[in-house]
Amino acid sequence: MSVSVAIVGRPNVGKSTLFNRLVGKKLALVDDTPGVTRDRREGEGRIGDLAFTLIDTAGYEDADDATLEGRMRQQTEAAIQTADVILLMIDARAGVTPMDEHFAKLLRKANKRVTLLANKAEGRAADAGLYEAFKLGFGEPVALSAEHGLGLADLYNIVATAI
Ligand code: GDP
Ligand code: MG
Repeated sequence: MSVSVAIVGRPNVGKSTLFNRLVGKKLALVDDTPGVTRDRREGEGRIGDLAFTLIDTAGYEDADDATLEGRMRQQTEAAIQTADVILLMIDARAGVTPMDEHFAKLLRKANKRVTLLANKAEGRAADAGLYEAFKLGFGEPVALSAEHGLGLADLYNIVATAI
């Protein structure tokens, strides 16, 4: 059975960009507008010789719960239930926001492997955010640039240890 990996995090951090890079098809919609991905999407993710089921979350608009917080909770809980590995993504250039803290709090309660991804880390503008990310309580963040394809070897190791 394929290991399943879910990418969670607030809108606009780059979840769909990573999904598209690893799945290799434009299955997830990427847009500058926060929260533009309408659905949870699944595809076969690949890094080198590793193959796994990748889940792109978002679609906070469509969930049953009317409040943003409730919708985020619903998606995160679905990811906790179905995924073997959870990737919590933040935008390293933006640093840790209250919404990131909220996701971290939801995930800390779950007894699941969580890896913190600090995306948009392709330049020095990400340095402060990388250090700040430790405070979310998931240890050292994996510095990543989904757009430029940096940090994928670290991601490979994380997924490989789950298989
Ligand atoms: P999502 O809402 O979390 O799915 O985020 P998206 O994948 O839709 O990306 C939101 C915005 O961030 C888009 O404009 C992307 O091009 C941009 N983005 C994604 N990854 C990176 C990255 O590694 N570096 C930079 N600088 N921008 C990125
Ligand atoms: Mg998206």
